[in-house]
Amino acid sequence: MPANKKILVLPGDGIGPEVMRETERVMDWLAKRRSFSYEVSRGLVGGSAYDAKGVSITDETVADAMAADAVLFGSVGGPKWDNVARQHRPEAGLLRLRKDLDLFANLRPAIVFDSMLDASTLKPEVVKGLDLMIIRELTSGVYFGEPRGSFKKPDGTRYAIDTQCYTAPEVERVARVGFDLAKKRGNKLHSIEKANVMETGVFWRAEVTALHKKDYASVELHHMYADNCAMQLVRNPKQFDVIVTDNLFGDLLSDCAAMLTGSLGMLPSASLGWADSSGRRRALYEPVHGSAPDIAGKNLANPIAQLLSLSMMLRYSFDDGASADLVDDAIQRVLASGVRTGDIMAQGARKVSTVEMGSAILAELDKLV
Ligand code: NAD
Repeated sequence: MPANKKILVLPGDGIGPEVMRETERVMDWLAKRRSFSYEVSRGLVGGSAYDAKGVSITDETVADAMAADAVLFGSVGGPKWDNVARQHRPEAGLLRLRKDLDLFANLRPAIVFDSMLDASTLKPEVVKGLDLMIIRELTSGVYFGEPRGSFKKPDGTRYAIDTQCYTAPEVERVARVGFDLAKKRGNKLHSIEKANVMETGVFWRAEVTALHKKDYASVELHHMYADNCAMQLVRNPKQFDVIVTDNLFGDLLSDCAAMLTGSLGMLPSASLGWADSSGRRRALYEPVHGSAPDIAGKNLANPIAQLLSLSMMLRYSFDDGASADLVDDAIQRVLASGVRTGDIMAQGARKVSTVEMGSAILAELDKLV
């Protein structure tokens, strides 16, 4: 691995600092045992930044994020800041990072560990061995399209508009992430839209097909309508390897896929931007869960989603699949040994705290090398 990767750590609020602490212990372990050479800088984001600086993220922290090779993000928010002005709300810090870093591809894996089969609401045989990746376009589409708003017709009828709009470069760049990832995995990509009823769907399908023909003919490409995809995800999710889709369908389908695994405390994500001429991509890694104010500060949070976010960072920003595999393996072994935090507690398992879960994973890492 190239030396001295720059990582910006933003623990945020609530359980963010608690799960980040365990993640930094694993980073220390990687530095000592795997020669993982990195420089960490830390910053404030969300409510903690608002309390200290009066804004949810400072310009300096955004500049640090721009200069970093990767950002490791915890979670933001909590009732303490419910009455803060909208532009200073904790979530605004995360939204600004996504916008300023132009993080247009959101990667959400759905992996079912054998030891967690019972956490899924689906039959074990349907989800056993599941390992799929959903890529959601994150910075365009109907959540951003203009015109938008609520209006009134001359006859007084009220109505509202949202606009779904995609440009060719927007489709191409996220589809490229999909094809590139498919090549590193099972070499199969499903592109999802509703070309049967939407102009943007027809356009999306044509752009993806053209890119496939031009640069990725060796990847197995399938097109599927979004409604069918939702159905197939719960019927036979193992038919998918990598899915790429727009912002709206990605929002729905990634939550649906996430729940195949059954637990919020286990779900990591990555948000990727453009690669520069040296191949370096802006990237932010974070758990899917929020700041869990109900259990914050109690040493109860499950640190695994944050740790799996670290493992995604190793894999996608630092091309260090071997270290990522080690972290993933250690987590799997700990779960298989029946060690669980409260959120994933099962009959006969041993219930542990956040710190104890971190220690168990470190002990397993020691055994693995
Ligand atoms: P949440 O994800 O914080 O919590 C939902 C439930 O899951 C809670 O019962 C919580 O205790 C539990 N939970 C979540 N993560 C866990 C973990 N690692 N270990 C054990 N249990 C865990 O969602 P919420 O309650 O809807 O939101 C709480 C706050 O977080 C809000 O202010 C919300 O805006 C914010 N939020 C932030 C992000 C983010 O930072 N990206 C994402 C979602 C929500």
